Amino acid sequence: MENPCKIVFFGDSITKVITPVFEEKLRSEYPEVALDIVNAGVSGETSKDGLARLDALAGQTPQVVVIGFGMNDWRKGVSAKEFEKNLLKMVEEFENIGARVILTTINPAIEGGAKAANSIIDKYNSAIKAVARCRKLKIADVNSLWKKEFRNIRKGLRDKIHPNRKGYEVFCKALMRVVPRRNTVVLWQYNGREAKCNYKCPYCYYSWAPKQTDYFFGTAQQWHDAFKNAFGRQHLVFYLAFGEPMIGAAFYDVVEMIGAEPDWELRITSNLSVPLDRLVETKVAKEGRLNINGSFHPLATSPEKFLEQLLFLRKHGIEIPVVYVMYPPFLERFEKDFKIFDKHNFLVHVRRFRGDYKGKFYPESYTDEEKRFIARYCDDATIKYMLNEQDIRGELSYSGMHFVVVDCTGNVGYDSDIFRPYTKYRCILGNVLQENFIQCLEPIEYPEHREGTVDGVANLLKLGYHELEGNNVMSFARQGGVYHTENGVHYKNLNTDFTDSRVRAEYNFPPRGLKDEFFVFLQKRREYWRGASKRGVNTIKRLISKVPFLKMIIKKILGIFFPKRFGL
Ligand code: SF4
Repeated sequence: MENPCKIVFFGDSITKVITPVFEEKLRSEYPEVALDIVNAGVSGETSKDGLARLDALAGQTPQVVVIGFGMNDWRKGVSAKEFEKNLLKMVEEFENIGARVILTTINPAIEGGAKAANSIIDKYNSAIKAVARCRKLKIADVNSLWKKEFRNIRKGLRDKIHPNRKGYEVFCKALMRVVPRRNTVVLWQYNGREAKCNYKCPYCYYSWAPKQTDYFFGTAQQWHDAFKNAFGRQHLVFYLAFGEPMIGAAFYDVVEMIGAEPDWELRITSNLSVPLDRLVETKVAKEGRLNINGSFHPLATSPEKFLEQLLFLRKHGIEIPVVYVMYPPFLERFEKDFKIFDKHNFLVHVRRFRGDYKGKFYPESYTDEEKRFIARYCDDATIKYMLNEQDIRGELSYSGMHFVVVDCTGNVGYDSDIFRPYTKYRCILGNVLQENFIQCLEPIEYPEHREGTVDGVANLLKLGYHELEGNNVMSFARQGGVYHTENGVHYKNLNTDFTDSRVRAEYNFPPRGLKDEFFVFLQKRREYWRGASKRGVNTIKRLISKVPFLKMIIKKILGIFFPKRFGL
């Protein structure tokens, strides 16, 4: 998220009441951000009124503008077509002053009858989505979330149109999914799925590596135009991480292409095997828009040689983490290598090995002792979701919304496995070169049971991580307890007792015996019952609401015990 960040909330009475509630939440969750919130919500206004007072906002230079009109438009007879035109005009005006614009959909209402009102509201919400698609904006889809959270839409309403306390929560939840998230990460297989690499690591994810051919398709200009057309003014973070990105013939064309757009950033994962002099002189590097992850491969280089490259980049202001794959033969040498990097305060991000070694499949085949050893150097999410591969199928994820994968022919999907020819989950969202890409407007249910990338894991809403800013690996590790301090890098789990059954259950370690099974059971039950008790209370409430007489009696009884809340 931008920091400092001035946010203008521009809309009607609903905006007016939601703004202070959301501001409180945002401030408590992002205390490090210098926030300046402007509540520009005016009761009773339509989009037409909003347009008329746009001049009054002249002089404001917000980083973000959240627009919330529509409820009064349909009630006061502004047609959906005119509403769409007005909205588009507002968006253009705010974009002209460089703001990141977010639209909110209209919450359900019951004025004039729930069915009639909501079929009209749906039309206006379609207009909002049409504007979002046209200008490539992200939206806080309050309406869709509302319908998922409340079986009875009235539950979130104070009167016929305005939200109550529960309705505020839905608004805040929907806004929290977009307002503090500036980046759209584009994991771009810019040089092909069978990307070129100069190493021959036996544990390579791409078993057919190394490939010597370039697979860059088209020209940098074509890609630039395609990305602009697909994402508009979104802040794009291009992530090049397949094969060795720096040896592709078009690499520096791509770096220049990204550097030319002030709102674009570049991230790469590299084995640092090539000279870096040219890279540190590029525009993205000079302007602090370049982040690098260094993947260390002990069979191809020495720690000392790798360290030289790390120190060179540090000298040029680029701090990079060392990514270390725990291939079984490396377990013995790991601590020795680790000490070399740790001595110079480089963060080591440990990855589990996934694949076959000596006829066994990993990570399942690590012994318990090996897993415990690896986990000591890992942040929390790496242990749970990568080392112990917690099942994430069906979990809500920002993939497709704030994160996409683009292959070398322009196909866009929402998880890094989609382009494998044999996968059954080809979650294609269109093609940027063919100009038919449609970005997800709300979180999707994740289709695969595991995730091996830090972005993929951080995208899970359940995890509650903030967006990965700057260096994605370091941002991810920090949120899971591994970060730089004045005295070196702090590894949260160095002394965690992974033999403790309670801890093992929490980190998703496979149970070793009855005691472990018991704690796994407790952990799963806890999650189940947490959901079940909420479901139970909702069912009782629903039943009571259907019998008005019963509702009145219960209210009276509660009034005796809690006079302030339920008393007459
Ligand atoms: S450096 Fe990376 S891409 Fe290249 S062979 Fe090794 S693991 Fe594969």
